Amino acid sequence: MWRRSVSAGHTCFGLKGIWGFRAVHTCDAPALPAGRITALQAMDLWKRHFEERGVTEPDQSSHYIIAHLLGATTVESLEQRKLTELLSLEKIEQVWKLCTRRLSRMPVQYVIEEWDFRDLTLKMRPPVFIPRPETEELVELVLTELKMKPDTRVGADGQHTILEVGCGSGAISLSLLKSLPQLKAIALDQSQDAVNLTIENMLRLGLQDRLQIYHLDVIKDAQTLLSLCSPVSVLVSNPPYLFSEDMASLEPEVFRFEDHSALDGGKDGLKVIKQILNLAPQLLLNYGRVYLEVDPRHPQLIRPWLKANVEELHYVETRHDITGRPRFCILQKEKSNKDRELNLGLRN
Ligand code: GLN
Repeated sequence: MWRRSVSAGHTCFGLKGIWGFRAVHTCDAPALPAGRITALQAMDLWKRHFEERGVTEPDQSSHYIIAHLLGATTVESLEQRKLTELLSLEKIEQVWKLCTRRLSRMPVQYVIEEWDFRDLTLKMRPPVFIPRPETEELVELVLTELKMKPDTRVGADGQHTILEVGCGSGAISLSLLKSLPQLKAIALDQSQDAVNLTIENMLRLGLQDRLQIYHLDVIKDAQTLLSLCSPVSVLVSNPPYLFSEDMASLEPEVFRFEDHSALDGGKDGLKVIKQILNLAPQLLLNYGRVYLEVDPRHPQLIRPWLKANVEELHYVETRHDITGRPRFCILQKEKSNKDRELNLGLRN
């Protein structure tokens, strides 16, 4: 059974930097039990403590941490016996150590140092952005389109190559590569921590033959990016897209522990998105497509901006996420109007 994150939103007010990065407040933790206890008792004790201390998702937090320490991903997949037998003193100490980290509001994904993304388990490490469930939907969207249109937009070798801007832990690229054995990918990130984590995840999954990873900033290193990373048939990104003014209301888990440069998209959240769209015609093969995850306010802003600013790229459609919000933009490179008409079957 896979783990599911429910804490990717940014609805709670987050106090900034009180505890600092990766800080752990041991004094807030309950005392170690006098004797040995079972996993179920430990779960209940920590759930209640998380609740009292206002830690979000108290139930899931204690479940995921303790299941992880017992060698499983979820409590449901553990044998009943493992839940009811007494834990060793060493295990109890480990439970206390990891749960105390969660008490400092460290996201559970960083506490257990791994998380599931579609059918993959990926290593997670602060401050690299933790992939959210919406991004699994983005991958499904790209997969469906690539499976439906295998013929057009392929490179000279007859294969699709995708480029991912802002790869974080590598979730999108690695997941696409895992699902499509013919696919090749290039992934880049402006953060060295992200690049290192993507490399680590790539090696663990044995996908190194089909993925190139670069430490590049899509804004500062545009020329290098163009020369190293083109042409590709698909450009995919979950870029930083939060409006800067919304950063202050992020949950403490997000605000204190995750890389702000992977979240903050500038005043209108479009800083990186605009740069990706500006470069897309030079990066893509003709009829190549861009797939973006964006803020629900973005599709209606991107459409007119694109028309006024980027030739050879046209807005195909907006797709909604599972909660019904406009979340994904699909765009396509078409060299001229004539090409577009041909593609739409308006000419012969
Ligand atoms: N969905 C993320 C959040 O709300 C933001 C993702 C992003 O900026 N790419 O925290």
